[in-house]
Formats: sequence, C-alpha cells, structure tokens
Amino acid sequence: MLDNIKIVLIQTFHPGNIGATARAMKNMGLSNLVLVNPVDFPSDEATSRASKAIDVLENATIVSSLEEAIADCSLVVATSARDRTIGLPHLTAREAGLKLTEESQKAKVAVVFGRERMGLHNDDIQQCHMQVNIDSHPDYPVLNISQALQIICYEIYQADLADKGKNYADEEEEFPLQKELEGFYGHLESILTSVNFLDPKRPGQAMQNFRALFRRARPTKKEMNLLRGALKAIESDKNKR
Ligand code: SAH
Repeated sequence: MLDNIKIVLIQTFHPGNIGATARAMKNMGLSNLVLVNPVDFPSDEATSRASKAIDVLENATIVSSLEEAIADCSLVVATSARDRTIGLPHLTAREAGLKLTEESQKAKVAVVFGRERMGLHNDDIQQCHMQVNIDSHPDYPVLNISQALQIICYEIYQADLADKGKNYADEEEEFPLQKELEGFYGHLESILTSVNFLDPKRPGQAMQNFRALFRRARPTKKEMNLLRGALKAIESDKNKR
C-alpha cells in the first residue's frame, strides 16, 4: 500500500533537495509527493538531481497549505531534528516506518518534512499527530532534508517488505481523517466560545492543550462521531433557550 503514503515537503528552498527527494522516494517504491509552496519548482536542478525518478517529480502535487496536503489523511507524522521539544508523541525512524506502513493498509497517511532552515512552524506541528526523530549525534543532529527523507523512506520500505502477506482487514479501528479532526476542533472551539469558556479576544493556549489531549487519546471514527454528537446536542439545547 505504498501508494497510500504521502511524502509532504513544506516550502523547500533548494530545488536540488526536491530532485533528491524524488530519487530517494523512487528507490524505496514511493511515488506520492506533495509540495507545499515550493520556492523554486519546476526547475532544471530538481530534474537533474531526480535522475531516473523524473516521473515522481512530474506527478508531484503542488498545494498552497499543509492543511490541503493532509486533509484526506488519517495519520500525519512530523519529522523533526529537534528531538522531543516539539511536544508530539515520539517515534524512532523504525517505529515510524512500521506505523505508517500498517496504517496505510486502511487509509492515506503522510510524513511531513520541514523547511531547510526553519524546520516546521508551530502551526504545522499542531496539524500533525506524532513526530519522528532520526537518532543522530548531539554535536550535529540536523540531517540534510533529502538524507533524512531517505532514511524514513528506507524504513517504510523495510516495513512494507516485512508486511507483505499480512492481512489487517478487520483488525483495527479506523481513525478520522485530518479534515474531520480539524472540523471537530473548529466545532469544539465555537461551542466553548458560545458558552464563554473561551474568550476570542484572549485565546491563550486552551485549544492547543485540547489538541494535545485528543492527540494523546487518538479518538477513533466512532468516538469522534460521539463527540460531535455531544457538541451538537449542546448547540441545539443552547439555541432553544
Ligand atoms: N533548523 C531546523 C532544521 C531543519 S532541517 C529545525 O530546527 O528543525 C530540514 C528538515 O529535515 C527538518 O524539518 C526535518 O524534516 C528533516 N530532518 C533533519 N534532521 C532530522 C532528524 N534528525 N530527524 C528527523 N528529521 C530530520
């Protein structure tokens, strides 16, 4: 199910890194590349670095926001050189390969790579469910983006090879898509505002803390419907008063 795994690059600056990404992906059997606001693409340098993976570049999807890139995904993994500081549940590269491969049997999943200089912004991180950090020496833990990507794609491919023949059909619960989660957060925020729990003039950290709570709990589709039902009941009761 490697087709269900999206590789998402945010605002990549050097076109060479986009080309090297395409090659790293094709080497590991991946083809679904999504570029969020690339700085210089298409470009000759990307094409030349892609070598025999030009098809991956040609079929890349270009979008203008991370939200758009991952809306149809049920699992979104952020990559970060900053170890545990970004506050999402943590996976090693191997665990990420296994998790992404397993969940891609049922739904689309994504791995998100940050900007060369700035990595991922807080806004991006808030839209991800987990993070993967590639173990590296503390003297210089930041890898080149396409080399970090190569390691993650290798682990996905290893997990896929080990996985062939397994049947997950009825094993696990389904999880909501990212756009459904965002819909829930929007609904929660509007209800909490309407009952004066949140003050739009002083939003503070409350919604970020709610996101952290639900990220940890990882509600299934059924549980998300239950929560949406509860919010709707509060809403209609409030409208009656
Ligand atoms: N100064 C930036 C570094 C960005 S490196 C920061 O603070 O995050 C560019 C991208 O390469 C990162 O956003 C991440 O996607 C990937 N990357 C680099 N080193 C990594 C590592 N050790 N583990 C996981 N991803 C890494």
